[in-house]
Amino acid sequence: MLKKLGLLIFVVIVGLTVVIAFNTITNTPPEVITEQIAIPQIDEMAAAKRLSQAVQFKTISQSREAPVAAAEFGKMHALLNASFPTVASNLKKQIISEHSLLYKWEGSDPALPAAILMGHMDVVPVEPGTEDRWEHPPFSGVIKDGAVWGRGTLDDKLSVMALLEAAEFQLKAGLKPKRTIYFAFGHDEEIGGPNGAGKISEFLEEQGVRVAFTLDEGMVIVQGIMPGIERPIAFIALAEKGYLTLELTATATGGHSSIPPKETAVGKLSKAVSALEANRLPTALQRPVSDMFDALAPYMPTSLKAVISNRWLLEPVLLGQLGKGGATNAMVRTTTAATIIQGGTKDNVLPTSATATVNFRILPGNTIEDVVAHVNDTVNDPSVTVKVKQGGNPSKVSRQTSESYKKIEKTIMETLPDVIVSPGLMLAGSDSKHYEKLADDNYRFIPMRFGPKDLSRVHGTNERVMIKNYAEIIRFYIRLMENVAQ
Ligand SMILES: [Zn+2]
Repeated sequence: MLKKLGLLIFVVIVGLTVVIAFNTITNTPPEVITEQIAIPQIDEMAAAKRLSQAVQFKTISQSREAPVAAAEFGKMHALLNASFPTVASNLKKQIISEHSLLYKWEGSDPALPAAILMGHMDVVPVEPGTEDRWEHPPFSGVIKDGAVWGRGTLDDKLSVMALLEAAEFQLKAGLKPKRTIYFAFGHDEEIGGPNGAGKISEFLEEQGVRVAFTLDEGMVIVQGIMPGIERPIAFIALAEKGYLTLELTATATGGHSSIPPKETAVGKLSKAVSALEANRLPTALQRPVSDMFDALAPYMPTSLKAVISNRWLLEPVLLGQLGKGGATNAMVRTTTAATIIQGGTKDNVLPTSATATVNFRILPGNTIEDVVAHVNDTVNDPSVTVKVKQGGNPSKVSRQTSESYKKIEKTIMETLPDVIVSPGLMLAGSDSKHYEKLADDNYRFIPMRFGPKDLSRVHGTNERVMIKNYAEIIRFYIRLMENVAQ
C-alpha cells in the first residue's frame, strides 16, 4: 500500500514537472514582423522651442475652489493658433467650458467610429519650498543639456503640443483620414476634469458621436524596473484604479485628563488606523495585470517565467511575492494609506473626537462598497464612524484584442523598434474616465522614456523631457494618425 502511494506521488511530481517545464519552455515572445516605415523628417529644435513656450504659461490647477487661471489659458490658446496654422485653418475648433479645446478632423467615411487623441493643458502647482531644488525654474521652459525643462514637459503639455505637431505635419503632407479624429485637451485634469474632459465627453455624446477609442496620458516606456528584463517596455494601460478617501471619526466623552477612561478618542482612533494597516485588502491577480504578466513572461528569467507560465498552480506564490511592497503591491491590491490624523486641543483635556483620513486606490474587481464594508468589519467599533469623503470606482478594463489596441501596438513597434509592448494598469487617475461611456475602449499611453529615477519628476521637481525623446513622441503620433485614419 505504502509502496503504491509512493509511486503515485512520484508519478504526480514527474507529471507536474513536465507540465511546468513544458509551459515555461513554450512561452516564447511573439514573432514580430513589421514593415519598414520611412522616418518622417521633423525640425526637432523648432518643436522643442514651441514646447518651451507652452511651459511658460502658468496654467495651474490649484484646487476645485480656486479660480481658473483664465488669462494663462488664453495665452496658451493663442500659442496653439500661432504655432500650428494649418491645424487652425483646417480643423474645426470648439472651446468647451471657456478653456478646454476640442478639434475635429473630419473623416471621409462617416460610418467609421471616431478616434479621440487626448491631452491636458493644466499642470499641478510647484510645492512651496521646493522651488530652489529645480535646476532651472519650473516655468522657465529652459532648453539645456538636450532637454526642455519645466512643469508640463512630462505631464502633460507635451501631449498637447506633440499631437498638434503631428497633425500639422500630416495636414501639410496631405493625409486625408477616412475616420474622424478628434483632439481633446482639457483644462482641469489635475482636479478631476469635471469641466474639461467631463463636458467635452457630454458634448460629443449629445452629438451622437460614435467613438472606437480614446488615447490619453497614463503609462509610459520604462526601463530597469521589471526584474530580469533589460529592454524598455511600453505599457499601454487598459484601466486605471479607483480612488476613495474615507474619514474615520472616533468619539468619546470629554473631561479632565486626570481621571481618564481606559481609551480616549485618540486611542480608539489609533487602534482603528493600525487595524486597517494590519488587515489590508486581499491580493488578487486581475485583468489587466494578468494580461501584463502574460505579455512579459516570455522575456523574463526562467524562474519567474516558470511561475507566471504556470499560474494555474503557482498563483498564490506569485501573489505572495507581488504583494510584499512597492509598485507590485499596488498592482495586485486595493491599497490603504492613512494620510491625515487630527484630534485633541490641549494636553490635559480629554478629546471628544479625533479624525483620520485614509486614502484607498481601488483595484479593478473591487468597488467603493467593498472597501467601506472591509473598513467597517476591520474597525469593528461602534464609536468610530466611517464616512466617504471622495470616491470613484475603478475604470472599466478595455480590450487588448480590439483593432484599436492593435493599431497602437503596431505604431509602437514601427516607430520604437527597441521596445517590448505590454498592457498595463495605471495606478493613478486620468481624464480617460470621463470617456468610458462614449468610447468602446480607453487606452492610456505616451511614449515617454523613463528610467527608475524619472518617475519622481512627474508632479515633483526637475520635470523635463529629452528633446530626442520628444521627437520620438511626435513621430509616434505622426504614424499613429496614418494607422488610425484607415
Ligand atoms: Zn496628467
